[in-house]
Amino acid sequence: MSDRERTSFPVLRSDDVCSLIQAAEDVYQIRFKNRAANAYLVRGSRRTILIDVGLSSNLAHLEASLAFVGCGLDDIDMLVLSHEHLDHIGAAFHFHGRTIIAAHRLAANKIMLRDDFSMLRKMFNEPNVPIDIDLWLEEGNLIDLGNFRLTVMYTPGHTSACISLFDPDKGLLFASDTLMPGGVMGGIFGSGCISDYIQSLERLKGLNAKILLSGHGRLSDAPQDDVRIALQRSHALLSDTAQLFDALDARANFEPIMQSVRDLNKLDDG
Ligand SMILES: [Zn+2]
Ligand SMILES: [Zn+2]
Repeated sequence: MSDRERTSFPVLRSDDVCSLIQAAEDVYQIRFKNRAANAYLVRGSRRTILIDVGLSSNLAHLEASLAFVGCGLDDIDMLVLSHEHLDHIGAAFHFHGRTIIAAHRLAANKIMLRDDFSMLRKMFNEPNVPIDIDLWLEEGNLIDLGNFRLTVMYTPGHTSACISLFDPDKGLLFASDTLMPGGVMGGIFGSGCISDYIQSLERLKGLNAKILLSGHGRLSDAPQDDVRIALQRSHALLSDTAQLFDALDARANFEPIMQSVRDLNKLDDG
């Protein structure tokens, strides 16, 4: 934890499992000390939402943290999932029937089809239970909480299905695994793509964000610095990847695909 964070963002409650940190008025970060991603509580004047929920095993601790600021699980009007990875959404099934669960349509599709490979189920050793998405989100949707208005931004790269939420009036940027404090890269997973990642970072750079609320790690009050570093690193990764691709003779990997296309062509000729 940096000195800057200690002064900027008060830690309201902390035990050996998680901490509750105030990011802004009525905005709280729940930071778990295991592999679970951060969860965020945003209490608007008309609606209250959670952004991500962490692993299924952390639910009791999430509940205790919310209770500390007088919020019960049944006070949550909507749970927004940033993408399909189970460290962010493992506990979501506990909210079935209690609240609306929302995710980008590409994440919703993977989650509803129980695409364990995309969700990294083995990696996080989560129970094999369905998570139902009630609301399929798109770029440009607006989540109106009264005094908070969060715009849904489609920011692919880490996976094909990542969203960020931005409140332009308050300068709050919930960027999940797309932008992290210190410009740490979230990694490129199966459905992701480095050049999509770069474009998403360029979009976040253009926002006048004041506080960065990421999927992992501390809060940041210097999102412009974070995004500048992340862009440098992602460009470096792109050129490393290009060199690697050049060094490997990847033709053998594409041969079965090319062969099946050639077979199709032959059929057409016949
Ligand atoms: Zn992720
Ligand atoms: Zn993550």
